[in-house]
Amino acid sequence: MNYSQARWTDDDDRYEPLLSEKSSETVSTEDGPLPDDLTRDSLTLPDVSEPELARHYTRLSQTNYGVESGPFPLGSCTMKYNPSFTEDLAASPDAAVHPDQPTETTQGTLELLYRLQDYLGRIGGMDAVSLQPPAGAAGEFAGILVAKAYHEHNGEDRSEVLIPESAHGTNFASAAMAGYDVVSLAGDDDGRVDLDALEAAVGEETAALMLTNPNTLGLFERDIEAIAEIVHDAGGLLYYDGANLNALLGRARPGDMGFDVMHYNVHKTFATPHGGGGPGAGPIGVTDELAPFLPAPRVAESGGGYEYVDPDRSMGKVHGFYGNWPVLLKAYAYIARLGDAGLADASAKAVLNANYLAEQIDYEIPFGPFHHEFVASAGEQDAADVAKRMLDYGVHPPTTKWPEIVPEALMTEPTEAESRRTLDQLAAAFDAVAGESDETLASAPESTAARRIDQVRAAREPRLSWQSLDE
Ligand SMILES: *Cc1c(COP(=O)(O)O)cnc(C)c1O
Repeated sequence: MNYSQARWTDDDDRYEPLLSEKSSETVSTEDGPLPDDLTRDSLTLPDVSEPELARHYTRLSQTNYGVESGPFPLGSCTMKYNPSFTEDLAASPDAAVHPDQPTETTQGTLELLYRLQDYLGRIGGMDAVSLQPPAGAAGEFAGILVAKAYHEHNGEDRSEVLIPESAHGTNFASAAMAGYDVVSLAGDDDGRVDLDALEAAVGEETAALMLTNPNTLGLFERDIEAIAEIVHDAGGLLYYDGANLNALLGRARPGDMGFDVMHYNVHKTFATPHGGGGPGAGPIGVTDELAPFLPAPRVAESGGGYEYVDPDRSMGKVHGFYGNWPVLLKAYAYIARLGDAGLADASAKAVLNANYLAEQIDYEIPFGPFHHEFVASAGEQDAADVAKRMLDYGVHPPTTKWPEIVPEALMTEPTEAESRRTLDQLAAAFDAVAGESDETLASAPESTAARRIDQVRAAREPRLSWQSLDE
């Protein structure tokens, strides 16, 4: 698709009108079968033809850029292509179960959840898994509460969580929401955890160190065993932020590195489109010692069937029932289809693709060698303008301005799914933008449905209900 097709007027940012703005008809509902107190008197419904309806939704789908529009190298988010067969399964009538159904009628669902717990445990090197948290951030929060419940059970009142300054914002938020004081750790000159800074910060108040590996610069924490020893010697736990698991799949496991608790962003590492607030899942895995504190319920095998069980000292719940079932189903299907060899192949290609792309682009990359993502610097250019301009070349931009240790950061993660041709197309877009003037960049994007959006105003004065632009 030519992305510029998504615009339908040349001179403004007008969006597709609502169907009811095109034409609507008010119909009476008085003669319906329901009792009067359950019905409204009349209902205004859109009055459009089938082609108008189809075109409306097609145009809406074209105003946004998605993984099926073109490459989407949004670093840290792992915006990989989501194979449609996983969507078909999640949409199948067989998958439409109600969480309150008696378990004898949902044995297939439970078996699948049970197997997913097992798959994720094996992939992460963890002894027990809870599928309940509905996102990575919710997994962090649940995982830190599991760590807290563990310490409290052991009669320990620890008050601090250590987090490297390059970490994702949700790490700081999760630790704070769980009631901890956050201690931010400066990195070393190579962009990794500074062991001296860690030694100095760790102590009897340390409940946990939260870490992602490879870190947000795409760098593997080579000293992970020493890091684990320092934290464990002080009685703390090691938390693994699984957002970058795509780099390690089938090759290395957080559990083997000494991590005690982790979350999986299954919507990043496995299947399910994400972004824009779509549903996700953030299961957590723990070692045997922490298993009794996991959220309730988990799925267990019993007498040839499956049932829900509540861990003995569960920290409680972070979501209704067992979690976000259709997302979990898609993750299961993806893992089962790829198998051990396929997962290992995915991480190899993710790393290869990032390294290939990095070689092709003109922007400087201050830290390396990296794994599945790299952070380039836009140098004298403004990274946000670079991002806007890349849309004009038909590609989605990288994550910008984070992590802050790289000036004007362009955090780039092409993912394993892209071909060499697509990587070359991405590189050409980077390089075209690298050669452009600040003036050109400041007026980009030229070709998208919406152009420069006033993001500050959108955040400060959000319009929470639809108003026609004609009003
Ligand atoms: C995406 C991300 C998270 C949060 O995960 P969500 O599923 O978006 O809540 C946490 N840490 C890192 C490094 C991430 O990239």
